[in-house]
Amino acid sequence: MEDSTYNETFLPLRFFLNQVAVHCPSCNKKGYVKTDIPPVAEQEKIFEVFVDCGTYYSPYRWSTACFLCCSCSKRIEFDKASSLKTWHGPIIATAEASCPACMALGYKQRIPAKKTVIKKAITLPTSTKLSCNKCNTKVDAEWKYTPNYSAMVPTDPIFGLALFAQQTLGKHIVWVYNCEHLNHMKAYIQATQRKTSFTILTGGHGDLQRLDSRHDILSFSQTLPTWMKAKSNRSAVLKALEDLKQKV
Ligand SMILES: [Zn+2]
Ligand SMILES: [Zn+2]
Repeated sequence: MEDSTYNETFLPLRFFLNQVAVHCPSCNKKGYVKTDIPPVAEQEKIFEVFVDCGTYYSPYRWSTACFLCCSCSKRIEFDKASSLKTWHGPIIATAEASCPACMALGYKQRIPAKKTVIKKAITLPTSTKLSCNKCNTKVDAEWKYTPNYSAMVPTDPIFGLALFAQQTLGKHIVWVYNCEHLNHMKAYIQATQRKTSFTILTGGHGDLQRLDSRHDILSFSQTLPTWMKAKSNRSAVLKALEDLKQKV
């Protein structure tokens, strides 16, 4: 293979959200999630990202999004106020209470609970009983549901719909959002030299490792798993990407 270099500017996954091929939640056929993010080819290349006090400044955040099926009439509009209603992916449920018995003894005993649930047609329970791990008292608590973005399931990040372009490779999955994402992945994987051409500038308070939204400041290649970047898997990954071309 001839020598090739991939120069990566700041290009986090969310920059690829112009259009994402996903499975329709009604008929399971192909549909698209579309946002107001311009295609990567029309975006300005970002060489510097500024982070301060946990906030980072970079353009291209989507504000409107919808899903349109190519086969049936299914259409979903994104509404920030009720984003969980249109979320189809994994959900994390959390509940918390303070134990009243321990409270009477003069100290606050917190009882946290956490579980991952898959949203189905059935309604999710609203309340649960937690037991204090100090004194075993049972306490009523409310479940709070939020999308589980860190679940390792290939979905779009807006509606949590299963990606259309995904393929298993051994025990792993290769997936892409769209054609542009596929081309960048391909160029990155087949490059013999990979160069990062952007810098992250911190304003003194930015501890990158501790940022909750760390994923947001990682460029797409930095979120790729090690097996995918390994030289030994290069041809298999490229083959999988080639196969995915007809699915985006
Ligand atoms: Zn459909
Ligand atoms: Zn207690």
